[in-house]
Amino acid sequence: MGLGQYQAKRKFTKTPEPKGRARAAKAKPLRFVVQKHQATQLHYDFRLEVDGVLKSWAIPKGPSANPADKRLAMAVEDHPYEYRDFEGVIPEGNYGGGTVMVWDRGTYTPLDHHTFKAPPLGGRSAEVTKQLADGALKIKLRGMKLQGIYNVVKFNRPGMKNGWLLIKHPDDFTSTEDLTTRDRSVKSGRSLPEIAEAKG
Ligand code: MN
Repeated sequence: MGLGQYQAKRKFTKTPEPKGRARAAKAKPLRFVVQKHQATQLHYDFRLEVDGVLKSWAIPKGPSANPADKRLAMAVEDHPYEYRDFEGVIPEGNYGGGTVMVWDRGTYTPLDHHTFKAPPLGGRSAEVTKQLADGALKIKLRGMKLQGIYNVVKFNRPGMKNGWLLIKHPDDFTSTEDLTTRDRSVKSGRSLPEIAEAKG
């Protein structure tokens, strides 16, 4: 997808968000971030590093560690790799305006759907790209809040474009705890109101 759509939607003289460029491909663990975003509608932006950019989904209810929960995740435009550290206030009138918190972050690996094995470091972006094209991605997350195996699956419903579901795969990290009650930043320890107040 590239960053054209992301950049076209923003005035970088008006928003503190990063302009961004693709990250150089290196054989390092892939990173993920979940940003809690108080926009017109509260949602959680789930972002996975793939080929130097962040593939992104907006999850209205936030992630769950309970395999019984199927969380709607709307695919949105790729974001730049540096966006994973962005926390702060996006001015009103800019696309996605509102307050953003780094709710969770860490590394992730794609897993083979049958063997649950991860490809070598250098082949992971290619594996994620292939699984996304097939409409079913299996990943293992190592974050501060989200851990263990998740499936991200295309949700083909008439009239719904860009719909996916984020579903916990049963494993040692399965839990019925409502993870969204852990509502402080893993970057700064701040709550959303504290981030909003620190503006300017
Ligand atoms: Mn958002």
